[in-house]
Amino acid sequence: MKNTFKFILAFAVVASFAFMKPTSKDPKKVITVVIDAGHGGNDHGMTVDGFSEKEIVFLIAQKIKKNNSDKNVIIHLTRTEDEFIALKDRAKFINDLKPNLVLSLHVNGNENKEASGVELYISPKNVSYDVAKNIAEDLNARLIANHNLKSRGVKDANFMILRETIHPSITVELGFLSNENDRSYLTNDEQQEKIAATILEAISELK
Ligand SMILES: [Zn+2]
Repeated sequence: MKNTFKFILAFAVVASFAFMKPTSKDPKKVITVVIDAGHGGNDHGMTVDGFSEKEIVFLIAQKIKKNNSDKNVIIHLTRTEDEFIALKDRAKFINDLKPNLVLSLHVNGNENKEASGVELYISPKNVSYDVAKNIAEDLNARLIANHNLKSRGVKDANFMILRETIHPSITVELGFLSNENDRSYLTNDEQQEKIAATILEAISELK
């Protein structure tokens, strides 16, 4: 009898803990991400056929923020209009926010019109290099899987925005404005929405 009682008591204790578990669960992790649309204002970046880099990356940055429906993902933009912001000011804005990730969006250009594809850069001088590398590899794989764009891979670079920020930072060159296929892709509203969705997909993996 005594043992049976002990067993029942033990079972009741275990059962009550099992019942309590959902309420004692940690609150979901909140992820803060900075989307840095490159260039702006007088700095147009790459321009081809009336299209400019500053506009393309601004539109995609806006779509990332607008389409984020996850309350545990907070997206900050370094610029919310067509204005020039110095790199050191962008880096200060980013470092003050202490984000989990910084994605600096750009588009490429080359005299060789055949050059095409997505290219991601990380800096060995950034203290969060290893974390950035993992995220960049994941984002690269998603971009290849979801889009009609080639990938030129994840590369090391010493860009100021990567070097001067202390959080995981990646520069994403979304394609070549000088290449016809990439240009028609990057300047298409529907494809820009898809690129934004792929970036949000990679961000949600950080949780
Ligand atoms: Zn650029």
